[in-house]
Amino acid sequence: MRALTKVTAGPGLELVERPEPRCGPLDVKVRVMRAGICGTDLHLEQWDDWAAATVVPPMVIGHEFYGEIVEVGEDVPTGTAVQVGARVSGEGHIVCGHCRNCRAGRRHVCINTVGIGVNRDGAFADYVVLPASNVWVQPDTIDPDLGAIFDPIGNATHTALQWPLVGEDVLVTGAGPIGIIAAAIARHAGAKHVVITDVSDYRLALAGSAGVDLAVNVATTRVKDAQRRLGMREGFDIGLEMSGAPTAVAEMLANLNHGAKVAMLGLPKDPYPIDWSRVITHMITLKGIYGREMFETWYLMSSMLATSEKLRSAVASVITHRYPADRWAEAFAAAEAGECGKVVLDWS
Ligand SMILES: [Zn+2]
Ligand SMILES: [Zn+2]
Repeated sequence: MRALTKVTAGPGLELVERPEPRCGPLDVKVRVMRAGICGTDLHLEQWDDWAAATVVPPMVIGHEFYGEIVEVGEDVPTGTAVQVGARVSGEGHIVCGHCRNCRAGRRHVCINTVGIGVNRDGAFADYVVLPASNVWVQPDTIDPDLGAIFDPIGNATHTALQWPLVGEDVLVTGAGPIGIIAAAIARHAGAKHVVITDVSDYRLALAGSAGVDLAVNVATTRVKDAQRRLGMREGFDIGLEMSGAPTAVAEMLANLNHGAKVAMLGLPKDPYPIDWSRVITHMITLKGIYGREMFETWYLMSSMLATSEKLRSAVASVITHRYPADRWAEAFAAAEAGECGKVVLDWS
């Protein structure tokens, strides 16, 4: 089969021929139809310090995918929707099942998480094998491109739904695909005002068409001015930090109401200072978010997308580029250039 692989330690990837992965007794084998390129994949391609410290080549990369089950392991329980022919997305975090959090049902905070396409062979290939308990069976009606990005939609859902949003003023910092999806979810969930910030006009325009009240370029406009334009008096009630940029976090803290709550998903490159006296005197709650709750997040995003045409089209609008898998190099170049939303590879 074809497999986009980190062949040796160092920059670059190669599309190579590999034997098809073997389906273990508790696994399923999936024929990949579509796969989404994530920031993680760019780090792996570029081979930064994180990648060098994390990945042992050779490794097939890729963790956002949609496809069809072609084989089910002999010990997988029967009588469920996990069957040959089912269309599925996959949870890329494989948990241990025996640590404290796993045993308590908090699998998203497992201390032994293994990542598909990072620590074991991934989904940028004709076939991927994963535990049967990690697949999310999709309705046959779902758009395969949308099915391929359930991992980042899940990040956005997990972050956006940390706190009730009905009637609240919500500030989203970072208009990448996950930030835009989170803004669309905040709108769907009943927020009063939804404001998104970035420094890329391209991405802000994308956010505008996904239904935010204001898309603010913080290179030229302060969030305070955006508040004034919306007639806001006291500051944002909820912050969704999707950029990992220290300046965005500072601007967010400066525009929150007392008692505000912030869910932080954007990964910063390095440690950075924070105005802790403001956090303390304003009694602000900051919460780190990683991955998706298994499988409550999956349930919620599926339900929201199934019932809202408006949300579905807002989420689909972040997919801006599609390439056949053999043109993966162009796809990665587009994703790295930044003038894009989500980039999807077609493996069918
Ligand atoms: Zn990802
Ligand atoms: Zn665990």
